[in-house]
Amino acid sequence: MAREPDIHCPQCGYRPSPLDRWYCTVDCGTRWHTFWTGGVCPGCGYAWQETQCPACARTSPHRSWYHFPREDDDELERSEPLEKADAIRG
Ligand SMILES: [Zn+2]
Ligand SMILES: [Zn+2]
Repeated sequence: MAREPDIHCPQCGYRPSPLDRWYCTVDCGTRWHTFWTGGVCPGCGYAWQETQCPACARTSPHRSWYHFPREDDDELERSEPLEKADAIRG
């Protein structure tokens, strides 16, 4: 069973609502929900590495918004990088 990460702002704990929208550049003009695409703009295909919080307006790396339960539970077993494990599984 896949574990769903808890998505919230690493700085203030705000959880994005389905009604939240993020804007791409002025030239692109796309308005979308960045957590539905993993930070990728559906208009121009640009992958945003940083995401601004709608609540506290601070910018954090997109990846740091994803909080997996195992980060807390398996503190002692973190020798294997999560990314590597995902690659093998996929
Ligand atoms: Zn765009
Ligand atoms: Zn925030």
